Amino acid sequence: MKKSGFYLRYLFSAVVMITLVGGPKAQARERSVESGNTSSKAVYWKTERDYIGMLAAYSVVYKGWQKDNARGYNIGSVLLSSDSLNSRLVFWARNCNAVTHNETQHGEVRLMIGYLAKLNADRQHGVKVPDIKNLAGCTVYTTLEPCAQCSGMMTLQKVRNTLYGESDPGFGKALERLQLDSSSLPNGYQPYPRPVISERANIIYCNLLEEGYAAYQKKYGADAHITDFLKSEVARLIFESAYSELKAYKAKVPSINDKFLDEAKKMVESVPKEFVPLHPEI
Ligand SMILES: [Zn+2]
Repeated sequence: MKKSGFYLRYLFSAVVMITLVGGPKAQARERSVESGNTSSKAVYWKTERDYIGMLAAYSVVYKGWQKDNARGYNIGSVLLSSDSLNSRLVFWARNCNAVTHNETQHGEVRLMIGYLAKLNADRQHGVKVPDIKNLAGCTVYTTLEPCAQCSGMMTLQKVRNTLYGESDPGFGKALERLQLDSSSLPNGYQPYPRPVISERANIIYCNLLEEGYAAYQKKYGADAHITDFLKSEVARLIFESAYSELKAYKAKVPSINDKFLDEAKKMVESVPKEFVPLHPEI
């Protein structure tokens, strides 16, 4: 009895140790990531880039926070150039519906048009820029789930995927709806070409915003607009927390993400409170 008790305790301790430290395989994985061998462990540094990208998107909105929506809604986004090791956050934008008197001016629309327009302006001034005419392979990090307008543009511009920092029960799931297959029904359709992967970001601020909006609807009724909730002090504090986290953030995979993080922080710090036109008219 004594002997089997010893083995049981030994086995229990071994299981606990493996659970806590992840076992030899997990340690080898970490070493592999740290040494830059990303073939099998891409998920670590990519997951961290997604996290940083989302913090940057919330921060871009926070830096231009408005109580009155004078510029547009408190919604914004940032663009990741590709899904490779060389990817960078290359552009940011915010909703500017009000100041432009133009309700097409959602954050994601301005992000996509603005980045390609900037590349072309640089190109015309002799700056060497990527030879692209669309956003194939790019990722859009956006603070609110994309609407049908922005989802349509992402689809046609071949955006690879989008991550959003709050679900929109009213106008969300547009990309998912484009992928519905009703071809077995009379007059049905195949899914739309060029699917864009749309995912809810795995970040605490997403949960907090969704809980905050649910409480807002409880108080003001189910028809209370999400864009009104996004003017509230509750929402402002959540965006502020994301911005504070980004400022203090240290890369978990520094050998791969230090430079990326540093550039992301610099981009966010360059974002002014005021409206930044893309063009004299918009
Ligand atoms: Zn939109």
